Amino acid sequence: MHMALNSLGLMPGMDQGAVPRLLLVDDEPRLLSSLHDLLKDSGYQLVTATCGSEAVAQLMKQRFDLILLDLRLPDLSGHEIMDFINAKGIDASVIVLSGDTDIDAAIGALRRGAYGYLRKPYPHEELLKTVDNALQKRQLEAENRQISWRLACSEKLYRYLVDSSPDIIYTLNPEGQFTFVNDRVQQLLGVPREELIGKHYSSLVHEEDLERAHYVFMERRVGDRASRNVELRLKCVRHGRVERAFEHTLMTVSFNSMGMYSAEKSSGSKQFFGTYGVARDITERKRAEEQISYQAYHDILTGLPNRVLFRDRLEQALIQAKRDATELAVMFVDLDRFKLVNDTLGHVKGDSLLQQVTARLKASLRRGDTLARIGGDEFTVLLPELRDRRDAGVIADKFLKCLDQPFYLDGHELHVSASIGIAVYPDDGNAIDDLIRHADIAMYQVKAIGKNGYSFYDNSMLDASGQKIILENSLRRALEQHELEMYYQPLVDVKTGRIIGAEGLMRWNHPDRGLLAAGEFLPFAEENGLMIPITDWMIGALCRDGREWNAVSDRAIRLSLNISPQYLDRGNFSKKLQESLATYGLSPTQIEVEITENICIRKPQYAIEQLNRLCDLGVSVAIDDFGTGYSSLSYLHRFPIHTIKIDQSFVREIVSDNGHYPVVLAIISIARGLGLNLVAEGVETQVQARYLERAGCTTMQGYYFHSPLTRSEFIRALKAQSPVLAAR
Ligand code: C2E
Ligand code: CA
Ligand code: CA
Repeated sequence: MHMALNSLGLMPGMDQGAVPRLLLVDDEPRLLSSLHDLLKDSGYQLVTATCGSEAVAQLMKQRFDLILLDLRLPDLSGHEIMDFINAKGIDASVIVLSGDTDIDAAIGALRRGAYGYLRKPYPHEELLKTVDNALQKRQLEAENRQISWRLACSEKLYRYLVDSSPDIIYTLNPEGQFTFVNDRVQQLLGVPREELIGKHYSSLVHEEDLERAHYVFMERRVGDRASRNVELRLKCVRHGRVERAFEHTLMTVSFNSMGMYSAEKSSGSKQFFGTYGVARDITERKRAEEQISYQAYHDILTGLPNRVLFRDRLEQALIQAKRDATELAVMFVDLDRFKLVNDTLGHVKGDSLLQQVTARLKASLRRGDTLARIGGDEFTVLLPELRDRRDAGVIADKFLKCLDQPFYLDGHELHVSASIGIAVYPDDGNAIDDLIRHADIAMYQVKAIGKNGYSFYDNSMLDASGQKIILENSLRRALEQHELEMYYQPLVDVKTGRIIGAEGLMRWNHPDRGLLAAGEFLPFAEENGLMIPITDWMIGALCRDGREWNAVSDRAIRLSLNISPQYLDRGNFSKKLQESLATYGLSPTQIEVEITENICIRKPQYAIEQLNRLCDLGVSVAIDDFGTGYSSLSYLHRFPIHTIKIDQSFVREIVSDNGHYPVVLAIISIARGLGLNLVAEGVETQVQARYLERAGCTTMQGYYFHSPLTRSEFIRALKAQSPVLAAR
């Protein structure tokens, strides 16, 4: 009995841990006390009431589990008390104890929900048993309530989890019809879940994916072997906003599915009853992947295929051409002087020019041809199924013609030409790399003989151009590998025999070919844009070395540096130079910048601005190779120039003390007239030196005095003429 009572204490709906509380109602004191005595040892909490109103008061005051109720009371009847209990919704069981033999009284009590009806006098055992039963029933009821509440909660939880899942969750019957699908399907596919129930899965799947879909939707396997991450395209219905029409779009969905089996305990075998699956919308991811792969295979600026895709197409085309025994052509198109546009007008304009060029080139091609951009201003073209190799020449001609018309960029009129090389399969190679390389070599050939044209590859080109290409590539590395070095050729004042300055000349310690002079590699740097970083390096190196000279010389040594037109065009040269001078503590007055005459005719106004900026710093300017360019004398006095360097070709002509060399004399008199300094370069003989000195040019440079010297050789020469400082 006690055991049962303890467990009753945990009943839901009863005070946790409390013993059942009973209300005993009888107006006969004797009967009431005997009832009390009977129950008092059972462990219940007992409360007594001797009339109806007292009972009602108790019921209002506290909660009871069970009421033992006498029907006939002086003030209120037992029925009335039960009506009160029901009306108030009091949760207490009632056992009626009545002396009444009236069947109506019993029916009235039971109809009002009494648990039991005991006639007085009742056997004690029966009363105790009825009380116990009533309390046990209450416990069961409370437990049931608890269970169904928990069930309701957990069902709600699962529904919630299923419906708010970012994935579509569904089940299908063995026929492939939906038996369950969560709310998500409406959001993702635009189909209400109710509409899908009973429908066949195929109504959702894109036709091309139906075959694969079968394995996912009709999945019978479970565990590791079940379908995982299978991608299918589903049709989804989107409400068109304006036209209010249904529009089908496709959504890429990743599926995981498995068979569902009921466990038949009796037979031990399992019964397949459908497929369960989870589907995730991966459209966004797909789009991102496509974007990435687009970017991996295309040039973003022009939208053209890039090098990778070009090679891929070429590979396919080669396979086809081999099979069909047809020819195909690879073209290498390189814009002429594009670097100059980029450097002078800036990258933004350069980019927009490239886009315009792309549009024109594209318009000249057939559908099956591929135009790719593989570098800054380098394009390649694939012409498959060539009927005749001359057709490639026709296309190249078209290209050149379409570039003939000027381009317009923010009011600037620009002219662009191209150099085009063509290699044809199978004559000029039958592998991808060979064809591209040979087209490239043919292109270089065009560049070399004056640009703006096209040329078919020919085996004879291999030697010269092959060398050039190898050179160009290794030049890029030379900068990084510190293979470049500045040499210095002294400028000598012949009257005193002293070194008064030096011209910086670049050398390349080529790993295979030894020391290369500037003339052997700088023209290539001009062609491929490397001149900019190379000159940046040169300025730093020169200023650093200049500081060392000052430390070993008793006089300031003039430092001459060569600046290519390309670098001067860039516009921030004076700033670069100023920074470097400041870094190494050199005076700008020590510096002379050598430019060629050509810079002055190309963009005179711009050149004047740049040179003025240099002069403002205190830097002087020399015209290099004077007399070989196209400069007219009228320009000369508009330029802020301090020095003229007589080109070595004129000096070379001086072969005799008694000869007459009018050009040299003319240049000397011009310099005098304009009040300019003079330097003669390339002086190799005593005869030349003497002639020039007599004609009035006293500063000279050339092998007769010194070859270009390494940094330390030059310092040694300086020390030799400054004995005091040299002792340091
Ligand atoms: P440049 O300014 O006219 O330089 C004179 C060239 O003549 C140098 O060739 C020099 O080595 C060479 N030379 C010197 N003395 C004699 C001589 O007595 N006889 C003969 N035949 N030649 C002599 P290099 O070093 O090959 O330079 C060629 C050109 O490259 C230079 O012509 C200059 O325009 C350019 N250059 C050289 N160094 C640099 C540099 O650091 N930056 C830039 N932008 N250009 C440079
Ligand atoms: Ca020079
Ligand atoms: Ca020169």
